[in-house]
Amino acid sequence: MAGRKRAVVTGGAGFLGSHLCARLLADGYEVLCLDNFVTGEPGNVAHLAETGPFRMVRADVTDYVHVAGDVDLVLHFASPASPVDYLRLPIHTMKVGAVGTLHTLGLAREKGARFLLASTSETYGDPQIHPQPESYWGHVNPVGPRGVYDEAKRFAEALTMAYRRTHGVDTAIVRIFNTYGPRMRPDDGRAIPTFIRQALAGEPLTVAGDGKQTRSVCYVDDLVEGILRLAGSALPGPVNIGNPHEYTVLELAECIRDTIGSASAIEFVPRPEDDPTVRQPDITLARTQLGWEPVVPLEEGLVPTIAWIRAAVGGTSEGPQ
Ligand code: NAD
Repeated sequence: MAGRKRAVVTGGAGFLGSHLCARLLADGYEVLCLDNFVTGEPGNVAHLAETGPFRMVRADVTDYVHVAGDVDLVLHFASPASPVDYLRLPIHTMKVGAVGTLHTLGLAREKGARFLLASTSETYGDPQIHPQPESYWGHVNPVGPRGVYDEAKRFAEALTMAYRRTHGVDTAIVRIFNTYGPRMRPDDGRAIPTFIRQALAGEPLTVAGDGKQTRSVCYVDDLVEGILRLAGSALPGPVNIGNPHEYTVLELAECIRDTIGSASAIEFVPRPEDDPTVRQPDITLARTQLGWEPVVPLEEGLVPTIAWIRAAVGGTSEGPQ
């Protein structure tokens, strides 16, 4: 179709990337997904080829990135993202944040495309101010085990700004806060899928520490809307996108157990090293500059998420697409 815009999504076969590809197609884009399937899988996006001009290519963006033809938008989402994954793949996580970001910025520069980096609230580390505005520089331990993820993303942000300042690339940085929804892996170690899997199996819900540490969780549809608004704006960011409604981890566990109607007990287990104590986005910038705020309450977003995890652990492919 003449005039159709073209987007390249790295990490497009992952949890967030797959939702992003679907939404871009729905918005009329042609979409090219580049993924090496280290934590994502082709099955997350296989259905998209039926819904529009979608192509998936197996590629490791740390090797090189080459795309023929015009590109309007490059969304760099490739990176292990859950602690289980980046602690298992520490060097790859640093490489994809550094070399992978270099290559995808090069693609945006070559094509004159807008570039959007998926950064993270983890750039704030274990924050000393609360909630976290974009102006906060963070409190990160570079030599702790989580440093591989946090510092890779901080490096990626600095590199993005260097390309903007040096080469005039039209860049944007989104700092994504914890997001949940269908297509999360039941065993990815993040709190919500773990609690859902445990509650469905009638096993104890393993809450780290005393469970009083907080998390703010955003439903994936809300996140994707915020990202698309940032992509469509001229803002460089960083812009926080997340749901400011803050829960203790214990409250999250109890809410999931109650929604499922499970009789699981709560079991307290040791907290991981450098686990952040609090986490809440200040979304003033997204509200005022993008007119964005999340609209899906936890109780509502949990329903399709639970259905997805139920299907995934049941070995069926009947999860919602
Ligand atoms: P995910 O693990 O489901 O997806 C990441 C995808 O990147 C996977 O499909 C994986 O195979 C791919 N990938 C990894 N290395 C690659 C490489 N070298 N070349 C090509 N593909 C590669 O994780 P997600 O939760 O969807 O996260 C996506 C992005 O969003 C990540 O950059 C992550 O840091 C960021 N993010 C996610 C969250 C969240 O709550 N899910 C929060 C903050 C930031």
